[in-house]
Formats: sequence, C-alpha cells, structure tokens
Amino acid sequence: MDIEKKVLQDEFRLIEPKIKALYGYDCKNYRVDSDGRRYIFKMYRDDQGLESTLNGESNVLEALSQRDSSVFPLPVKNKNGSYLTPVVTESSPMLTRVLTYLEGTFLAEADHTEALAHSFGDFLARMDQQLMNIRDVAIEAKRSNWDLQHLLLSEPHIDFIREPTRKKLVQYYFLQYKERVLPRQHLLRKNLIHNDANDLNVLVNGEKVTGIIDFGDMVYAPLINELAVALTYILMGKDDPVQYAQHVIKAYSEVIELKNEEVDLLYYLIASRLCMSVCNAAYSKRQQPDNEYISVSEEGAWSLIEHWITINPVQAADAFRKAASLNPSVVRTTQEDLDRRKKHISKALSISYSTPIKMSGAAFQYMYDNAGNTYLDTCNNIPHVGHCHPKVVEAGQSKMAQLNTNTRYLYDELNDYSARLLDKFPAPLNKIFFVNSGSAASDLAIRLAMAHTSFNNIMAMEHGYHGNTRMAIDMSHYKYGGKGGKGKQEYILQANLPDTYRGTHTQNDGSAGEAYAKEVTQQLQQFADPLAAFISEPIVGCGGQIPLAKDYLKHLYPVIRQQGGVCISDEVQTGFGRLGNHFWGFEMHGVIPDIVVLGKPIGNGHPMAAVVTTDAIAESFENGMEFFSSFGGNPVSCAIGLAVLDVLEQEALQQHAMDVGTYLTSLLETLRNEFIQIGDVRGSGLFLGVDLVHDPQSRKPNTTLAGRIKNELRDKFILLSTDGPADNVLKIKPPLCFNKANADHLVDTIRQAMRSAIG
Ligand code: PMP
Repeated sequence: MDIEKKVLQDEFRLIEPKIKALYGYDCKNYRVDSDGRRYIFKMYRDDQGLESTLNGESNVLEALSQRDSSVFPLPVKNKNGSYLTPVVTESSPMLTRVLTYLEGTFLAEADHTEALAHSFGDFLARMDQQLMNIRDVAIEAKRSNWDLQHLLLSEPHIDFIREPTRKKLVQYYFLQYKERVLPRQHLLRKNLIHNDANDLNVLVNGEKVTGIIDFGDMVYAPLINELAVALTYILMGKDDPVQYAQHVIKAYSEVIELKNEEVDLLYYLIASRLCMSVCNAAYSKRQQPDNEYISVSEEGAWSLIEHWITINPVQAADAFRKAASLNPSVVRTTQEDLDRRKKHISKALSISYSTPIKMSGAAFQYMYDNAGNTYLDTCNNIPHVGHCHPKVVEAGQSKMAQLNTNTRYLYDELNDYSARLLDKFPAPLNKIFFVNSGSAASDLAIRLAMAHTSFNNIMAMEHGYHGNTRMAIDMSHYKYGGKGGKGKQEYILQANLPDTYRGTHTQNDGSAGEAYAKEVTQQLQQFADPLAAFISEPIVGCGGQIPLAKDYLKHLYPVIRQQGGVCISDEVQTGFGRLGNHFWGFEMHGVIPDIVVLGKPIGNGHPMAAVVTTDAIAESFENGMEFFSSFGGNPVSCAIGLAVLDVLEQEALQQHAMDVGTYLTSLLETLRNEFIQIGDVRGSGLFLGVDLVHDPQSRKPNTTLAGRIKNELRDKFILLSTDGPADNVLKIKPPLCFNKANADHLVDTIRQAMRSAIG
C-alpha cells in the first residue's frame, strides 16, 4: 500500500494515514483514518472521459452538501486545490480522490420496518429535489451500462447466464422492456439521479435514513428510475414486495408528486434493474472470478425475479398508483365486457367459468387478469414452452419485420423448419404440409387418406375430437354425439374407446388392447366398404385423458392397412414432448402411423399446424390440383416453429415434462389414497387426468365434484379444466415450464377443495 499512503500524505496532506481495503465494483476503495478523522480513498483506472465525470461528480457532491454536509460524502481537495490526483502505478495510470466518510449502519443491516421504508422514500425524494437544481454536462453526457435507459447494453450478457430456467425470465423482461418501457421512456421527465440507492450505499440510524454514498453511477435519466433502482434492492427478500414498495413510494410522492406514466412503468423498471444486475454479474464473474462484491446481491436478485414473475403487473401498477395518491386505471366491468361481446360474437362460442376472467397478460405458466390476480395455468397446452416465451415472440416479431410471404416463393425458413421438424419423425414420415389449425390439418389428413386409398370411409374413436371443419365434426364423436350434434354420418365408423378404467376390458398387460382391437376387426368385417383411414389420438383428450389400451394400436394398425386404409395419429394434444417419455404419442404405443396431425403446441399459440406423411401418400395427392394454403408454412410461422423446437431443446423440456409429470403423478396418487372419490390418475408426463367418481366400486362419474373442484380452484387462482363424456375428469396439461413447486401448490389446492367439497 505504499503508493496509496504516499499519495494520501504527499498530495492530500493526511497525517500518518491508516489504510484498510474495502470492496469495490469497478474501482479500488480504502477506508483511511488520519488525525482523528475518517475518509474514503478511491483509485480508478484512468479510462477516457473518467476525469470529467469524476470532476462532475465532485461538483454535484459539493453542491448537495451545501445544505447539510453530513448526508453526502464531500470530496476533499488535494494540495493544488483539485479533487483528482493522477498517479502512475507500475501497471497503469490511475486517478485518485478522497471523500469524507459517513458514519452509520448500512440499510442492508437494518431492520426494514415500515417507518424505515417511509424515511427511505422521503430521503430519496429530498435528495432528488436538490438534484433538480443541479446541472452538470459531464454527468449528462455519461453513458453507463448501469443506466436503465441503456438496459440493452446488458443484453449480450444474457448469454453468460447458464441456467435456462433463469435465463428465460431475463429474456422475458428484456422483451417487456422493449415493448413497454422503451417506447415511453423519452416522454418521462429527467433529472440527475443517484441511480444506485442499494442497501449497501444507504446509511441508517435506527428507523431513519441518514445518508447515502457512492455517486459513481449518477446519471441524467428519467426521475422515476431513482425509485425503481432503490426499490429493486430494498424489495429483495420481502414476503410481500409490492406492499413494502408502497411505503417507500408513498413517502417519496409526498415530497415529489409522481405521474401516472412514471408509476405505471415501475413494475417493469424494477424487473429491468434486476435483469441488469444479474446480467452484469454473470458477465463480470467471467471477467473477475475472484471479486466477491460483484455477486453480493445476485441470489437476492434471482429470488426477486422468480417472485416478480408471479406478480400481476396490473396489481403492482394499481398498488403503486394508490401509494402515490393517483387514481387507479379505469377498467370496464365484466358486464360491460359481456355486453360488448354479445353484440358481435355468437353464443356458440363459450366462456369459461360463471364469472368470466378478463386476461391482460401472461408469462410462462402464469396468467394475469385485469383485476390484478395471477393465475397458475394448469390446462393450456397451446403455449407449450410457456406463455409469451421471449424467444418465440422475438422470432415471430423479427421475421414479420423482414419477410412474410407464401410457399409459392422460395425462402430458407420453409426448408430449414421442415428439415428440423421431420428430423423428429421416424424415417418413413418424410413429407410435410403446413396449414393453420389442427382442424385444417385433420381435414387435410383425411383428404390425403382418401386420395391415397380411393376409399371414402373413416373410422374414428368414440369420444374423439379432431376439429371444427365439416369433415372434422363428422369424425368427432365428441361433437356429432354431443349437444347439438346431428349423429354419426354413414361414412363414419366409430371404434369403442379402448379404456382400461371404465371400459369392457380392463387388464393393463396388453390383453385388453388386443381384445379391443379384435372387436374393431369384427366391426370392420361387418362393414361392406373398406376404410380410407383410422384416426385417433394416442391419449384421447376429450374422452377424459384416456390412454389407448396397451398394444391396441399394435394390433389394429395392421388390420387397417390390410384392408387398404391408412392410419392417422392426431398429435395435436400429445405431441412435442409433452408425454415426457416420448416426443410423439404414437411412440408410446410402439407404432408408426402413415399420417400425423400436428397443431396447438407447434407454434406456442401462433396459428400454425401441419400434416406429416409418407412419400407414397404425398405422391398420391399430386394429381394436378394445387394444394395451397395462404398462410401455411409462411416464413413467420416457420421461424416461430423453429424457435419452439430450439426452446424445447435448450430448456430440455421433454425431460422436464417427464420429471415434473412423474412427481405430479406421485402427488396425485397420494391424494387418491386420501379420497375414495379419486378413481383413477392416468396419463403421461404433463398430460394427466384425474377421474372423479362417487365410489371406487361403481366408478360412477362424479360430475358435480369435478365442477366444484374446478370452480374452487379458479377462486384460488388456478386454471384447470374438466373433460370426458361425463365431464368428471380433471384435465392437467400445463405449459411445460410448470415446475415441482407449481405441482405442490396444485395438489395442495385440490386437496383443500376436495375437503371442503366432501365436508
Ligand atoms: N385435434 C385435437 C385432438 C384437438 O384437441 C383439437 C383442438 N382442441 C383439434 C384437433 C383442432 O385444432 P384447432 O382448434 O387448432 O383447429
């Protein structure tokens, strides 16, 4: 420490300075005792422009301290009357300076009472009020990667975050920043702000904030960023961060009136600062693996990000507005929304729940309504890799801004995506047609089958559903046999559901499957004309999540083919790794279909679907008539499809479905042992069904109980659907990012609901 001591003695005239090294992020910091006084000594690597910003900082500190010199560190002049002293060390030229030392306890070590939160908000506002009257061109010209206005400077550092489940949260909030903050940022009032009121920079005495240090991150930026940064750190580790934030905001706004447009961004600004922190920590850790200070708030930041995603931004904005004495945002009543809908939308479209939910946003397995509630989504398998997954959204946004056209032109996306997707199939399935809905896909599948076989009859599964086109309705027992259905058409044959729980054959060793297949064979023998196709899902969703009996397809497919037909697997629900142990549902039955229908998860909510088939069948379709879909296979859809496959791989979601699905199944099995009303737990991976019965002997479907559970769960902010011919099966098919903690919560809530329903 010779050089430090020499500078302090020779340049700053400090007598016999005693030096202790402190932590520092991007400069060296020392505590210095000399002649009964205490100072901070800082040494910076002399980078370009640093001198003017450090001088700017000193000017601001001097101006701030004019009112009270015990609140802010005061720069100490050297023997020449300057704040900065250049020093040449062995390694590089450095700039040094000395500041007065502020006594006090760090906010990090204090008990975070409500009174302290209030004092914190008040302190920040009074400091910002003082800063409103100070200008400094050097600070205004500063560009810092700790300035929320320049969050995107940290974006490349996302790559240094290793864990995919964390990385995607950061990607999500970067996307939200671009969507919600960037376009409004230039409209916000600006100020000099401290920009780093973290709990290791703020000093307290009891329940009072007494001072603040380290103005090194000071920038000229939207005023609201001051509060956002301060809140980011103080909220870490709080059980109810929104409520705690309210105390700080209230006190701040009592000094500086806040505006709606500022307060409404706070939720996203806090998220942005958290992301900035973890990104920069991930990057800096690579650069300086031994610097502990870098990751001082990293785990706290991660925990808060993971908590933050479960907070509805509407709830946060309303709570923050309330704290700032601003009016809540105006929303329509449910009745007004229903009336508006009734005007233009047919009643043939249903709405879930007797009190409908109006959604305002979503993130991964969570959905946010416009009343401020966050729902855990356990039933939507369309946002397969998670609602609004940033990688998928960005793929679509980006391609839409570059090119969107149709398959009559050449473009790489179609070839790239087709190759990637077909790679997921066994060799014979090597041709693909793109359309825009599962319905259009199953319709096309039947056209392919008819073209290939020249037959017109179709066999479909009891309780099956394949879509909303005329042809799809014809082959969906769920529709033609359900409410408003006109019954089965003559060209349709209905196969009995090979159900081993409630059906006629119940053995699980494959003999039930064989017996069911035999029945179908006999049925075919009695039917005069051959079939063009047999279509079924591997696990029949609308039938109540019924896995086809083991070996059923193994016995049936050869029979269908022998009489001249083709076999179609509808993978709209079961495909893309949801089942955990298999990527496609047909794999669990050990068969290879001739045609596969894909939909829902393929585009994570973007309207795309596909039909995959063999060379021979595709050739039979080439009869001169063009197949054209205006939107099917467009570059945007292909880019989105590719992103879905990328995310599935990067986040290992098939394995995750397997792990979490197995865990969830075991929890549900435990529940089954507690309640005789749970007759069966079935399915695979994250495609499960819980069959509710009156008693395990009769297996009589308990529709009322299923309805009660569904509604009670809705009241506890869990979205769950019911299905099956008697609507008594709880259907669980969440976005694949659904995790074990979500599974615990779901099963605990079902348990409570069962208890209250049964009494
Ligand atoms: N097949 C199955 C098995 C389905 O579940 C659905 C949709 N629920 C469809 C086809 C039709 O898909 P879409 O709604 O995209 O037309």
